[in-house]
Amino acid sequence: MVKKKPSQIRLAAAAGQFYPNCPKEIRSQVERLVDQPNVVLAGQPPQIILVPHAGWSYSGAVAGQAFGLIKAANFDTVILLGSAHRVLTNKIVIDGHDFWQTPLGQTPVAGNLTAELVDDDVIAVDRLVHQDDHVLEVELPFLQTVLTNFRILPILIGQVDDQSLLVLAKKIRPILANNPKALLVISSDLSHYPDQTTANKADTQILAAIASGDKEKFDQTLAILVDQYPAVDTFACGADPIRVGLLIADQIGLREAKILIRSDSGTVSNQVEQVVGYGAVAFWLKRGQDFAEIDQEEKNLLLSWAREALTSYLATGQIPLKKAPRVSLETKKAVFVTLKKDNQLRGCLGGLEAKEPVWQAVANMTVTAAANDPRFLPIDKDELFKIKIEISVLSTLKKINYFDEIKLGHHGVFLKKGEITGTFLPQVAKEGDWNKESFLGEICSQKMGLSSDCYLDPETEIFIYTVCSFSE
Ligand SMILES: [Zn+2]
Repeated sequence: MVKKKPSQIRLAAAAGQFYPNCPKEIRSQVERLVDQPNVVLAGQPPQIILVPHAGWSYSGAVAGQAFGLIKAANFDTVILLGSAHRVLTNKIVIDGHDFWQTPLGQTPVAGNLTAELVDDDVIAVDRLVHQDDHVLEVELPFLQTVLTNFRILPILIGQVDDQSLLVLAKKIRPILANNPKALLVISSDLSHYPDQTTANKADTQILAAIASGDKEKFDQTLAILVDQYPAVDTFACGADPIRVGLLIADQIGLREAKILIRSDSGTVSNQVEQVVGYGAVAFWLKRGQDFAEIDQEEKNLLLSWAREALTSYLATGQIPLKKAPRVSLETKKAVFVTLKKDNQLRGCLGGLEAKEPVWQAVANMTVTAAANDPRFLPIDKDELFKIKIEISVLSTLKKINYFDEIKLGHHGVFLKKGEITGTFLPQVAKEGDWNKESFLGEICSQKMGLSSDCYLDPETEIFIYTVCSFSE
């Protein structure tokens, strides 16, 4: 019989010092700290946040601005990235425990991701480096309060070179790129021990450089500040974790970054001669497969909403006024709606541009497909119960120069020659049992009214997209 190894649990090292020891007190503090956001979230939560790691009484309000943006989000994996503050190491060190414990309970470590990250030269697994370091632990009770059902991947960076940071960024990138439910938390304070006026000046510049998303600009700004204020210990104790975050954002594509707040220890202690600066920044990443952000519950909500809109429209001529039940459904997305009766197409219309919130787009396109598809008579009340609704949510369009990039059945194709355009959703390829040439040819002839080789014309622009389709 194989004996199960006992779990390795990292016990709290900073509770009672950096944050309260009592679960009730932790929860009430977090609730208060995340409760007054400076930035109101419209759409998806950020996928990377920068937060400080001092005692909560000093920097908790700053961290709370970032954690407030991910409150109740459905993240299932949280990568915690900081620089080692306790143990000197010349490696990047992933934690090797099974669980991290705080007064709020235990959170599992995503040990299954470790193997992919390890790199013999620079990235190792070690429990000891993480044992007493507070910089990641202080973020955990925030996460335990605002999220449910998530695992953490704690990583501390020691004294390493730029090349090692690039290796780490490349290894973390796919985790964030492939899983919209993965969050990267970068833990860093800003300038250490200048007077408050200098800290405010330096931190403002550093935060602007961070929010530019440009690692070069961050490095240049740091170099200028070091020159300008040689007596200041550091302008970001987590400069390397920030560099890794910027590299990843650049590799995946940064959609937007927002500085949420800047502050310093002097505002709390009134000791303004020597302060530590704090800032919070949120980053939203670009994703070609934006549709992956639609989870099962959202699919169900959209399908029943489409049915409600269609039923109401056929009865009253109106789409009911109803607010999206989730913030995520207020994100603008391009949508197609396909209606089938007895498995036969009965109407299909949509748009390729994300012009309105997906919630609105689904209702509008369902009604338009039912009433205005020129290929069919409008759908009648009496056939409503036989109609099956399919919704396709589209990614953004990508222009391509070579047909090789088209994966039949996976990509929808949009062709544009001057003012004439036409498209097929990816699923049409399967239904028509076509190869790539006939798929493109049918768009030319059926949808654009041109000769079936119009896609070979150098004046024809070719775009691809992916879709997430779901039906009743
Ligand atoms: Zn620090």
